Amino acid sequence: MSAWQDSARCAEVDPELFFPELGDHQDALDAKRVCASCPVRFECLTQALQRREQYGVWGGMSVVERRAVTRLPHRCRQCSGPVLEAGHRYCGPDCQRTARAVRRRERQHVEWAA
Ligand code: SF4
Ligand SMILES: [Zn+2]
Repeated sequence: MSAWQDSARCAEVDPELFFPELGDHQDALDAKRVCASCPVRFECLTQALQRREQYGVWGGMSVVERRAVTRLPHRCRQCSGPVLEAGHRYCGPDCQRTARAVRRRERQHVEWAA
């Protein structure tokens, strides 16, 4: 097992959750919720896409969702999670807001220090 798998959040829950019956959206949602707070989502999704994984939720995405992906992800500049849209710096509005707040704080800090 490689090092990133040691930090896999799914190791703490029932693995069955990540292989829901076809059409079991609730289980898929529960698995995706675990993935959402997983620190190795980028590595997990990248490798699942590379090996064209045919079963289960990996990196927060179901197999149907992964099939629609045409490129490998790059890292969100805020949380290091996966970003699939080309040209996007952040994985979503939360990270974008956080990054903006951090920049604002840094600027204030520089102004006070000057
Ligand atoms: S992203 Fe999800 S499936 Fe992948 S290691 Fe983390 S919890 Fe497990
Ligand atoms: Zn992010």
